[in-house]
Amino acid sequence: MSTPAPVDDVDVVVIGAGQAGLSAAYHLARLGARFVVLDANSAPGGAWQHRWRTLTMRDVHGIAMLPGLDVPDVDDEALAREFVPAYYAAYEERFALPVVRPVRVRAVRDAVPGETEGDLLVETDAGAWRTAAVVNATGTWERPFWPRYPGASAFRGRQLHTVDYEGPEDMAGLDVVVVGGGASAVQILGEVAPLAASTTWVTRREPVWRTDDFDPDAGRAAVAQVEERVTRGLPPQSVVSVTGLMLRPQEQRAATLGAYERHPMFTRIEPDGVRMADGSYQHADVIVWATGFRAALGHLAPLRLREESGGVRLVAREDAHTPTTAARDHRVQLVGYGPSASTIGANRAGRVAARAALRTASAS
Ligand SMILES: Cc1cc2nc3c(=O)[nH]c(=O)nc-3n(C[C@H](O)[C@H](O)[C@H](O)COP(=O)(O)OP(=O)(O)OC[C@H]3O[C@@H](n4cnc5c(N)ncnc54)[C@H](O)[C@@H]3O)c2cc1C
Repeated sequence: MSTPAPVDDVDVVVIGAGQAGLSAAYHLARLGARFVVLDANSAPGGAWQHRWRTLTMRDVHGIAMLPGLDVPDVDDEALAREFVPAYYAAYEERFALPVVRPVRVRAVRDAVPGETEGDLLVETDAGAWRTAAVVNATGTWERPFWPRYPGASAFRGRQLHTVDYEGPEDMAGLDVVVVGGGASAVQILGEVAPLAASTTWVTRREPVWRTDDFDPDAGRAAVAQVEERVTRGLPPQSVVSVTGLMLRPQEQRAATLGAYERHPMFTRIEPDGVRMADGSYQHADVIVWATGFRAALGHLAPLRLREESGGVRLVAREDAHTPTTAARDHRVQLVGYGPSASTIGANRAGRVAARAALRTASAS
């Protein structure tokens, strides 16, 4: 018989050490909680350590400061995948946050089967933790969304998702089809179009271009729209569907090459290209699926948090205005989900979730 894994007992387990998890951890530490942060990555940085090699801090929309420590001055040319992880590493050290890594959470379930008001058991590849509450901050990067189209498996060229993209050089001289209507597609086209033989941009819906400045009011309006969806239990929309797209100076070269002439989604993938909606044929050496992400919540499946509509309905508890508590199980807080899926939203949600989780722990 195998020896059971040891069980550590804490008030709160935070799952994930990206912006959302670190923010929650900071507030839990200040509130004096007994907690641990479990992170599947082997180094600090959350998803930022995996961003593509050419993504500089000039290309990103900017990251919000974590509570209590300013973002250091940044050179526009600094690589996002180095700069942000270095900031997170310094943060973990500064506040002596109890991050344990690499630890992958496999499942969260009732510690005593059927006791839905009792403790939770967090099962991982490195043992188990027993806890009164969980703050889930697992982001989306580990769940790329890759839609299925007929013929995809017979395609003789290369197919990759945003998570696999490393830069444009290996697409020089090739015919490239980019799929997806989000900011990643716009940025990838901006880099690839000047080097490729041709680029073809396809999206399901007509992109919505933003011509005004994306000021704080517009940001708040976008967050409110996504918040409204998660309080109804609908799957959160992509951020760009509520913010709109913008071309920046670094995308102008691609724009003059016609890279942002959008086509409706192709109907079929053929061995050496794609069949466009109007029946024409487009040769392709590469298909880039910049088709976004879904929330990485598989480990929470035993708790049955999802509504029939597919989303996790979130509610705001007591004095909080930010919804972070799973409506179907108040022991679980979700941060970096829906309206808090940006570095600024993640910060606010982290504070709310830490308080709510600790309240659950003190009531248990
Ligand atoms: C290309 C791109 C550019 C972006 N640019 C910006 C920007 O400029 N500004 C901005 O505000 N936002 C930006 N965003 C969104 C931004 O990444 C997120 O809002 C934020 O950084 C995500 O933080 P997070 O803590 O929710 O998740 P993550 O940074 O993804 O961290 C999640 C952590 O959880 C861990 N994890 C996942 N599953 C498990 C598990 N089962 N067990 C244990 N650990 C687990 C992961 O390993 C990871 O370390 C961008 C997103 C993308 C994809």
